[in-house]
Amino acid sequence: MSAARLTIDLDAIAANWRQLAGLCAAETGATIKADAYGLGVGPVARRLAGEGVRTFFVALAEEGAALRKAIGGGPRIFVFSGHMEGDTQLLRNLDLIPLLNSPDQLVRHTERARGRPFGVQLDTGMNRLGMEPAEWSAVRDMAVMLDPALVLSHLACADEPAHPFNARQLRAFSDMTAGISAPRSLAATGGILLGADYHFDLTRPGIGLYGGAPHVQAAPVVTASLPVIQTRTVQPDEAVGYGNAWVADKETRVATVAAGYADGIHRALSGGMRLWAGDTPCPVVGRVSMDLITVDVTALDTVPPVLDLLNANQGIDMLAQAAGTIGYEILTSLGMRYRRRYTGAST
Ligand SMILES: *Cc1c(COP(=O)(O)O)cnc(C)c1O
Repeated sequence: MSAARLTIDLDAIAANWRQLAGLCAAETGATIKADAYGLGVGPVARRLAGEGVRTFFVALAEEGAALRKAIGGGPRIFVFSGHMEGDTQLLRNLDLIPLLNSPDQLVRHTERARGRPFGVQLDTGMNRLGMEPAEWSAVRDMAVMLDPALVLSHLACADEPAHPFNARQLRAFSDMTAGISAPRSLAATGGILLGADYHFDLTRPGIGLYGGAPHVQAAPVVTASLPVIQTRTVQPDEAVGYGNAWVADKETRVATVAAGYADGIHRALSGGMRLWAGDTPCPVVGRVSMDLITVDVTALDTVPPVLDLLNANQGIDMLAQAAGTIGYEILTSLGMRYRRRYTGAST
């Protein structure tokens, strides 16, 4: 069996949610777009629902449909991309709530789904998604009359607590929503950590649930273990891998493990990454191939059957740093080839 194994600790996800919820007097939801950041929306969502999550957020109506099938009726599911052309049936049949991003979406929703619940997404300066202040002014009275389930905006710089843009967006959001009675939401993981001013009625953490920065106190969630296929001794001046990119300067034991850039292990990590035999780091040598990685295991007395890519010694943020990226991208790149195993009760 040579498929790499991903072990996903549902207890750790639950503990991370409880920790963030403990910081909020507001309701704490959960963002589980992109298949729960690559970890598997079914098991993750069922565990979070069992933990008390009553509101979920996804990016697309299709993701909402998959989530609804996994958790059944009950929890609310909001869709960030709103009410797109072609979404009407899915939204209605699976009881999903679109977050309307433009006057056009508001018109579409009122024409095709009048009386069905919706929320509104406002742009408070990120210039990515949501109604701009002028658009909102034009439709605000009508939208408020239709009784939105939520009014939401998103922070651009929340992972930098000292960034002055956080306070500017908070002020813009407060101004744009002054005097309305609909529930409001501004904070994802970073916004929760900025403090109570940012929490409003509902928070919606994602990455912090899965063990990533800026929730630095999060419990690690993912272990990735890569099977060793074979081990060889390389003599001084011999090269390893594509392009002869690494050349031994002394006799070196090299293990070849079964995973590569097709498993989300970025080629950019070649040379900057270590795999772990328990607590012992083993440097990657040569280029990451599509399905294989070569590792210097000279320091080990015995080579174990698997070497870890992610474990308690090397979390998603440490790996991300070596690749010049962020934990979000590491998680969502992992791909479908791993054998996934869940520990902790899925309720
Ligand atoms: C992805 C996303 C979230 C969750 O953000 P994290 O940084 O992962 O906590 C919340 N709200 C919106 C609009 C998002 O796009």
